[in-house]
Amino acid sequence: MVADEAAALAHDEGKYGTVGVVALDQAGHVAAGTSTGGTTGKRWGRVGDSPIIGAGNYASDASCAVSATGTGEYFIRLTVAREICALVEHKGLSLQAAADEVIQTKLTALGGDGGVIAVAPDGQMAWSYNTSGMYRARLAAGEPLTVGIYKDEP
Ligand code: ASP
Repeated sequence: MVADEAAALAHDEGKYGTVGVVALDQAGHVAAGTSTGGTTGKRWGRVGDSPIIGAGNYASDASCAVSATGTGEYFIRLTVAREICALVEHKGLSLQAAADEVIQTKLTALGGDGGVIAVAPDGQMAWSYNTSGMYRARLAAGEPLTVGIYKDEP
């Protein structure tokens, strides 16, 4: 690969291309979806975290639903989505505290980058990311739509 091609593939903005969703229905059931093209310039045949339940995606009515974006190898190593739900289910952490524990502490310590969106059956919503930004939005009945890209936004 020549230098120009490598430069064209270098995206160091700290933002990824995965599209994720988490939802809570009226009956209290949660769901998560994650769709991705993977990482830019990825090796042929690479499988990222997005399709791996427990890594980039997880949902359980016993805890929460999580969808992740970031450098998938780290999310696989930490089983990020399941780990957040386990902290909620077994340690009794709030959803935001659990998401921050895994993203801000564990993922960051491992050298990984990315973030998650999450929702719990009781209506808690959370997001956490250790990149400069994460395209995100949230909407709940009776509440205004919240949209953000960078850290200093709501
Ligand atoms: N997590 C995805 C992957 O590693 C990349 C992304 O979030 O854009 O395949």
